[in-house]
Amino acid sequence: MPDAPSLPDIAAPLLAWFATARRPMPWRETSDPYRIWVSETMLQQTRVDQAEPYYRAFVEAFPTVNALADAPLDDVLKRWEGLGYYRRARNFHRAAQIVRDDHGGLVPSDYDAFRALPGVGPYTAAAVLSIAFNRPHAALDGNVIRVLARLVALPDDTTRPATRRDLQGLADALLPADAPGAFNEAAMELGATVCTPKSPRCVVCPIQAMCRAYAEGRPTAYPVVSKKAPVPHRDVAVALLYDVAGRLLVQQRPEGKMLGGLWELPGGKVEPGERPEAAVVREVHEELGVEAEAGPLAARIDHAYSHLRVTLHAYPCRIVSGTPVSDLPLRWIAEDEIDTLAFPKATHKVFDALTAAQRTPTLFG
Ligand code: SF4
Repeated sequence: MPDAPSLPDIAAPLLAWFATARRPMPWRETSDPYRIWVSETMLQQTRVDQAEPYYRAFVEAFPTVNALADAPLDDVLKRWEGLGYYRRARNFHRAAQIVRDDHGGLVPSDYDAFRALPGVGPYTAAAVLSIAFNRPHAALDGNVIRVLARLVALPDDTTRPATRRDLQGLADALLPADAPGAFNEAAMELGATVCTPKSPRCVVCPIQAMCRAYAEGRPTAYPVVSKKAPVPHRDVAVALLYDVAGRLLVQQRPEGKMLGGLWELPGGKVEPGERPEAAVVREVHEELGVEAEAGPLAARIDHAYSHLRVTLHAYPCRIVSGTPVSDLPLRWIAEDEIDTLAFPKATHKVFDALTAAQRTPTLFG
């Protein structure tokens, strides 16, 4: 790791720049640690413009940590619907209950106590505690990593844990004791608006004079990252099962799994060499214990998660024998109840595709 520029050199120009360039955001208008925590939890893996309406609706529905703790998990997931990474919402809900029960409803300002809460990693702890309580912890997110890697022209792969530790050490060394929250926000803001991944605007950068990547004339050569493996793809067959009243069967995903607690259409992975319409019949039998027939394909949609791409094939199915039973919660829902439950984005895409095609799969035969 090359030597860091001396602390005053970067902190002073960065903070001066931030004082004028700072974008208005609703969570920047509050010093409430809970609301700052909400924003930092949402902003993990979510862009600012996407998170903003969710933030407003979330703090309106759950204005305090105790209000969040007292709310049913289903309500919290519904408010989170569309943001993805639902583990964040479940952990946040559990953390709020611990704050209510063990900390008198006050967000802990002590690093170890806050860091011990579910879902609070080093980044969230540093960001919330520095911004809300002015605690001296450097927050290292993707934007800050890019800025620092360029600042020192770091030749090491920034995806490696050892490099992350080095960068954390560098960020800690640069952090001014009298303004850690503002410094963290300024570094993140610089990465988000000036030192961007593909087209950094070095000409307006407040730390250009200290930047080694700029001096080398190749800012975008940093940060160094190893090539990622291609994202795998999976075909999934799902069933549109209706009862005689025209209600649709949905089931809740198990806690502790990806998208846990959300509702979805019954179905599962298409095995190699298997046709999707055969897969949906097999899955319905395995999951619900009923014999079914699949009708013609009603919708096919693609959806990409960060680590997985899926194609959902949706078939109207008719139960030939048996009554659906499952270890997981099942519900028959009318169309207007779709808005009362939280579904993964991919399931919403199926609903949207069915609506757009004006196909209303019903019991057939
Ligand atoms: S000079 Fe360019 S590369 Fe260096 S920190 Fe500023 S924007 Fe990033």
